[in-house]
Amino acid sequence: MSSDPIDLDRIVIVGASLAGLTAAATFRAQGWDGDLVVVEASATMPSDRPPLSKQVLAGTLEPAAAISALTDRIDGLDVDIRLDHRVAGAGFAADDLRLKFFNDHEITADGVVIATGSAARWPAGFLVETEDSTANEPKYRPRLAGVHVIRTLDDSLALKADLDSGPNRLVVIGAGFIGAEVAATARAAGVDVTMVEYAPLPLARVLGGMVGEFVADLHRDNGVDLRLGVGLDEIVEGAPGRVGAVTLTDGSRIDADVVVLGLGAAPELDWLGGSGLVVDNGVVCDETLWAGPGVVAAGDVASWVNTLFGERMRVEHWENAIEQGEAAAKRLLAAGEGSDGEPFASVPWFWSDQYDCKIQMAGRPAADDEIVLIDGDPADRRFAVAFRRGDRCTGVFAANRPRIAVVARMRMAESLDWSHVVP
Ligand SMILES: Cc1cc2nc3c(=O)[nH]c(=O)nc-3n(C[C@H](O)[C@H](O)[C@H](O)COP(=O)(O)OP(=O)(O)OC[C@H]3O[C@@H](n4cnc5c(N)ncnc54)[C@H](O)[C@@H]3O)c2cc1C
Repeated sequence: MSSDPIDLDRIVIVGASLAGLTAAATFRAQGWDGDLVVVEASATMPSDRPPLSKQVLAGTLEPAAAISALTDRIDGLDVDIRLDHRVAGAGFAADDLRLKFFNDHEITADGVVIATGSAARWPAGFLVETEDSTANEPKYRPRLAGVHVIRTLDDSLALKADLDSGPNRLVVIGAGFIGAEVAATARAAGVDVTMVEYAPLPLARVLGGMVGEFVADLHRDNGVDLRLGVGLDEIVEGAPGRVGAVTLTDGSRIDADVVVLGLGAAPELDWLGGSGLVVDNGVVCDETLWAGPGVVAAGDVASWVNTLFGERMRVEHWENAIEQGEAAAKRLLAAGEGSDGEPFASVPWFWSDQYDCKIQMAGRPAADDEIVLIDGDPADRRFAVAFRRGDRCTGVFAANRPRIAVVARMRMAESLDWSHVVP
């Protein structure tokens, strides 16, 4: 016991996706029976996101199943979900937590969970205001049809409809995980794919040479025209109002019927300006996910000190959103008991499916860590590498070697010592 207990009669969760709904389920699982409200910007229930670049895009998973994969978490629980409620601003003073909406309505809370995730990046100036945009609530759409990002179920279905309608020469800008998954799914459907990456290799900024070379070979062997070391210059109109080509920074031009932008995501923070919280590439939390009096954050939006790695990080992974949703809810309930809670220390975990390759990654490597092959051979598409920084193992990347990744993750949770993780 180290703080005055907070009287938690009403908790509001902002964001009804993975972190937010996991937090909601955790409050109920812990026996808290107060007034639980979840406010969500989207007018329809969000879906689980990993299938959006994989099975939903391929047509092997029904949209309803992608939604229920997420919403099953709160089935039968007493949770007041308010869709079409985008929070526009907030004021977080001790004992006075307020969330403001675009229609000037506001609600108060005794505790708040911030789970607003992240939004796909668009090139500057490419979004234009729509006809239903108002001074009070601006709304945007892409300047040209046929240009997509993938963040929501609607995004995935719109891209699928475009690819299904053919002719379809797809250009993917950005060879990160989501761009690479879209390329793989589209190739499996027989689409011509060109993938453009500004770095000299895919994933070069986070994972370094051997892994990037493996991903590049994987895509080339599956018929992707990979253009490396060159960036997007312009998205060019073809038929009126529709994309027809892209030009690249080396002066080349690629004709395109469909363009997917895999430029990464940015945390949803705009609404927190002037709220009293510190934001800096995420909601700045302490090691327990505590952001300010009565306010915790979880998932893609949370920046916290991971005591296992001894560094501040923000993680855009599915499993992190679940683990932090649970931990953040428990942290708030601990504050209700006057406790300062426990640090949230974790080994980040990510997977990606591309062609016949199941990729898994544990940890938080940096591109300049030493890469050591610990199993198999990239040429066989079955291998694992570990990342070394001094006497620490910062991560393990495995392709079609799931057990190695799982065991490495368990060992890293005990200690990052190199000889412990890679005996
Ligand atoms: C296409 C795709 C594929 C992926 N594949 C994988 C994968 O294979 N493996 C993996 O580990 N991870 C994957 N991820 C990442 C994973 O899905 C995310 O890390 C996870 O969804 C994060 O959950 P979240 O709840 O923190 O945020 P989000 O899922 O981003 O949800 C945030 C919610 O908050 C709402 N919101 C935002 N602003 C406001 C506001 N002002 N007011 C009210 N509501 C608001 C949003 O509408 C949204 O519903 C993928 C992501 C995408 C997009």
